[in-house]
Amino acid sequence: MKAGFSAKRISPTPSVAQAVTAKRRAKTASPGKKYTAIRRDLERQRKAMLAEVGEGLTNPNGQEALPDVSDQASAEADQNFSLRIREREQRLIKKIDEALDRINQNTYGICERCEEEIPYPRLKARPVTTLCINCKTLEEQEEKIRR
Ligand SMILES: [Zn+2]
Repeated sequence: MKAGFSAKRISPTPSVAQAVTAKRRAKTASPGKKYTAIRRDLERQRKAMLAEVGEGLTNPNGQEALPDVSDQASAEADQNFSLRIREREQRLIKKIDEALDRINQNTYGICERCEEEIPYPRLKARPVTTLCINCKTLEEQEEKIRR
C-alpha cells in the first residue's frame, strides 16, 4: 500500500522540447478541415430535408390531388404514414445538426462507445453515425436481445 509513494517523482520536462512537440502537433492536425466534404454533404442534405418538411406542412392534404379517394381507412393510413415520415425526417435533421456541431467542436468521427476514430468511408456513407461498425453491430445485437 505504501509502495506507490516513493516511486512518485516529478521528472523535469524541458520547456523547449514541449514547445517543439506542440508545434508539430499543430502542424499535422488541421481541425475541421478533414471533414469539409462531409460537412458540405450534411448541409446540403439538411437544406433538402427542411424544404421537404416545409412542403409537407404547407400542403398537408396532398391526397386531394387524387380523384375518388373513397376509402376512408386508406386515407387515414396515408396520413399516419406521412406523419411518421415527418417524424423520421425531424429526427434525421436533429442528427444532422448534431453531426455539424461535432464537426465544429472537433469531436466528429469519434465513436461514442469505444472512442476510436470511425473510418472515413463509413462517415462518408453515413455522415450522421456516431458509432464505428463494430460498436454499431454490438448495439444492434443488444437491441435484438432487449426486444
Ligand atoms: Zn466503436
